[in-house]
Amino acid sequence: MPPYTINSLKAELNSRGWRLTPQREKILHVFQNLPRGNHLSAEELCNLLDEREEAISLSTIYRSVKLMARMGILRELELAEGHKHYELNQPYPHDHHHLVCVQCNKTIEFKNDSIRKHSVKQTEREGFQLIDCQLTVMGVCPEAIRMGWPSALPTNWSCSRAIAEYNHHVSIDTTDHASEE
Ligand SMILES: [Zn+2]
Ligand SMILES: [Zn+2]
Repeated sequence: MPPYTINSLKAELNSRGWRLTPQREKILHVFQNLPRGNHLSAEELCNLLDEREEAISLSTIYRSVKLMARMGILRELELAEGHKHYELNQPYPHDHHHLVCVQCNKTIEFKNDSIRKHSVKQTEREGFQLIDCQLTVMGVCPEAIRMGWPSALPTNWSCSRAIAEYNHHVSIDTTDHASEE
């Protein structure tokens, strides 16, 4: 199957008796145009739509993404920080798995056909219909290890903003101490 386009998604949804409301279409458009490797939380999606002046209420977004995930249109990802992120669930062979840094949530996508093969076999054996197959591997990224993970890092440290943020936190700490005295 080729990667989804809005039209092929519409056709697929129709074939399953599911209506693509204008709001759901807006949401799909955002995911469709998301650069590879990006995943959005409901809040981030809400902000993005807001910026485009296509605002949808957060409660509608929560409901829509949940429903779309259950339909297998979106993928729900539990990243290390705990709240859910979403991405378009591309059909095989355009699917992928995730390697997530538990310190900074840096997420690397990778492909692996044998994971898929095992899952298909298992699904068929149990008489299930396969909706999505994703493996999430938790790890610690090389930047965090270099910075002395876990002991030397504040819990909210993030690789991408590493040095600047770290210094920022340190200076905030100093200010707090000063004000207590
Ligand atoms: Zn992904
Ligand atoms: Zn990291």
